[in-house]
Order: sequence, then structure tokens, then C-alpha cells
Amino acid sequence: MRDLYLGIDTGGTAVKYEVVANDGSAVGGGEVPTDPRDAAATLRALAADAAPLLGGAGLPRLAAVGMACAGIVNPVTGHLGRSPNLPGWENSDLGGAVSAAFGGVPSALANDVNGALYGEFRHGAGRGCRDVVMIALGTGVGGGVIIDGRLLVGSHFGAGEIGHMVLDADGPPCTCGSRGCLEAWAGSTGLLRATRELVAAGGATPALAALVARLGSDLTTRDVAELAGAGDAAAVGVFAAAGRKLGQAVGNLVNVLDPDRVIIGGGVARAGELILAPCRAAASALILATEAQGLPIVPAELGPRAAAVGAASLAREKAQEGA
Ligand SMILES: [Zn+2]
Repeated sequence: MRDLYLGIDTGGTAVKYEVVANDGSAVGGGEVPTDPRDAAATLRALAADAAPLLGGAGLPRLAAVGMACAGIVNPVTGHLGRSPNLPGWENSDLGGAVSAAFGGVPSALANDVNGALYGEFRHGAGRGCRDVVMIALGTGVGGGVIIDGRLLVGSHFGAGEIGHMVLDADGPPCTCGSRGCLEAWAGSTGLLRATRELVAAGGATPALAALVARLGSDLTTRDVAELAGAGDAAAVGVFAAAGRKLGQAVGNLVNVLDPDRVIIGGGVARAGELILAPCRAAASALILATEAQGLPIVPAELGPRAAAVGAASLAREKAQEGA
């Protein structure tokens, strides 16, 4: 009986997977290394690793596969376009390759942030909502939007680039070539740059200056968050500044989309209220609809499993739609 669904999250170094049952409950999961030059070899290794959960070598219990993948993904055709971290995978029929590697079962594709958003929407912080916005604060900043229960992909599969919403055209440079994108403040690279600039300008506390001097290029947002958690005013201020910019972006998005809920995920979001409280205040000041001013702006719940869980949900729903 084909009663299980496989969700895959393909990153540049590892491929994580989750197996779920018909009712959405978790069966198990694992990960294998990514070969960024060879999709077929990676998928073969993954199929072998997941086989014990799926009934054995022929995967007799597998009903459908979903994959969340970094890059420009066409969820209708399964085509993967540009994907800088997966040079051997880009510009290919990835949906076809995924189906072929798993015995010809149906496949569903999404980009990585949309996969994570869908996981949160079905099984995490977005449960029970209809319209959800997610912002993922990692090294860079990703985004995704669900409207009426469906992922918004756009006419050219480029929707959801919330990290490159320009908040100040004279702001700091962004990896995309623009200036003042949300990512330049609220991604970990931007937040650490702001921290070092504060120290260099003499505006930091002695404790923050000492932390930056001691860790040098090993400094992470977690280190700054720990100091902030201990009450260091300068470290608190770094997260507050990033949170205000995040809130500016959220306020703009709420005025355009009026969602039920906004989910903030990614490593920087582990700072919790240090970044969420100033985000809520800044967003509320910009939101025009009075009823929307207190909308929930909440942390993600599923952590690094989110995209694989979401991919499994997409696979399950695609198979059930086709049934
Ligand atoms: Zn940008």
C-alpha cells in the first residue's frame, strides 16, 4: 500500500528528508551529503538511505515525493532554473529526475523558503491560517507568501524576495547589488557588519567591543544575542535596530497583503524577543488597518526541519489532488 510521502530539503551541503504518513504524522527522517555537481547521484544515495522507512529497496510504500530546493523553481513543470549553490543541478528537469529516482511516483517542487513556509503553514507556526507571510533571517534573508492557502509564486516564479525589499535607497550595500535591502540589516551578515561598525565608531559598550575583538571573524549573531540576553545595552541595540528594519518591511507587507499571521524564522530569529519586540512596534506604527495593527508576528516552530516537512505536505496534497 502506497501510504507514505517523502519530503526533501536540498541545500548546498546536505539533503535532509522527512517521511510522513497519510494523516501528516512523522514517520522518520535523515540526511545525506549533497553532490552539488550531480543531482542523480545525490538522489540515488538519498533513495538508498530512506528505503528502510519506505518498505525496502523498491520503495513499495512511497506514494509521492516533494522537494524544496534553493533556486528559481517552477512548481508547475518541475524545472529548476538558476541555483548558484547547485551548479550541476540548475537549468534541469528536476521534477522529472526526482520522480525517476523514486520509482516514477509523482513529484512536487518548491523553492527552499516556500518549502519551509508550507511546513510552518501545515504543521507549525502558521497552522489554521489562510494568508501567511514568512521571513527567514539567515546569512541572507528569504521570504514567502501564502494567499488563500496557496503559495504565491508569481508570473516568473520570482515572488517572495522579501529580503531584497529596499527600505532605504541610501542604506548599506546588499549582496544583490542594490543598497538598503532588508537583508543588509536583518541577515546575519548585515547584523554583524552593523555590530563591527558600532564598535569601530566607539559606540559600543566595553563588553561588546571586547567580544568583537576576541572572536574576530568567528563572531556569530548567537554570540551577540548571548551578550544582549545578559543585558548589554549595545548588543540589545544591535538587535533592536535590525528588528526596527524588519518591522518596517513587515508593516509594508501587511499594508499590501493583510495576512493572518507573520512568521519570522532563520538563525537570527533565535534571538527571539530581542528582535521580535522592536519588529512588532515598528510594524504596528506603519500598519494602516486598525484591526491589523496587533496581528501575530511569531517565531517559526519547526526549525531546520521545516522545508522537508513542507515538501512532504506538498507531495501529499499533490498526490491526493491527482487521486
Ligand atoms: Zn538586496
